Amino acid sequence: MMEKLLDIKDLCVFIDNKIERKEIIKNLNLCVNTGEINAIMGPNGSGKSSLAYVVMGHPSYIIKNGDIFFLGKNIKNLSPDKIAKMGIFLAFQDPCEIQGSTVFSILKELYVSKSKKLVTISTFSEILFKNMDILGLAHDFAARDLNSGFSGGEKKKFEILQMLVLQPKFVILDEIDSGLDVDALKVVATGILEAKKENPDMGILIITHYQRILKYINPDFVHIMQDGQIIKSGDFSLVDEIELHGYNQYLDGEKKDA
Ligand code: ADP
Ligand code: MG
Repeated sequence: MMEKLLDIKDLCVFIDNKIERKEIIKNLNLCVNTGEINAIMGPNGSGKSSLAYVVMGHPSYIIKNGDIFFLGKNIKNLSPDKIAKMGIFLAFQDPCEIQGSTVFSILKELYVSKSKKLVTISTFSEILFKNMDILGLAHDFAARDLNSGFSGGEKKKFEILQMLVLQPKFVILDEIDSGLDVDALKVVATGILEAKKENPDMGILIITHYQRILKYINPDFVHIMQDGQIIKSGDFSLVDEIELHGYNQYLDGEKKDA
């Protein structure tokens, strides 16, 4: 049965960086049901990454108004670790490097913490390698330090590897396709679809500028974000519309002239 997974209601968000107090998300509404794939497209600086961070509980953002419900529970005042434990996963646009933690050790820790049962090294290796194979990652990748010296493609694949191993309930993919060549893009898309196949109830929110990944992922709904708001929602045909005429066509006359 389909139910509301992530439900954002009348969200207004500010950022206060001592120099200025800036409204970044303006009265935004968005609902993603279980099993659904929603895409957000929009020009640079429209607030897409900020929205992802706010959902994850990033402390720099101040929620002025509105609520964020996840499976019916209001998560707007929860810390990122609690939100992650509830089953929300964010694949970062620019993942950070952590030296001294290997891919294997960190994923094993996360897996144990999520499944709440101990796992032997050999059992976990099996799980990990099976998923690395989907992404075409050589097994010695498991011994590497987190994101340290990873190529752009490896960083993105590692984000998808986490998604495959942890099987979150809801995934936000922030520009997972940026900087990928055609082959890597195909592999990343395959990984996303594979995770979804294993867990059909998984909800996905994919943030992107390009139609190419959406051709593989085939979202149920497409939303256009501009200046902190969702200004239009529709089906896949919106993607072609954007590709043909850009984002400007959706702006009102006043903003268009500016
Ligand atoms: P997008 O992901 O759509 O490109 P972002 O969410 O990264 O957009 O940014 C939206 C707006 O918020 C931009 O104008 C950006 O400069 C601003 N912004 C984001 N984070 C901060 C911050 N920490 N301090 C000041 N402004 C910020
Ligand atoms: Mg961004």
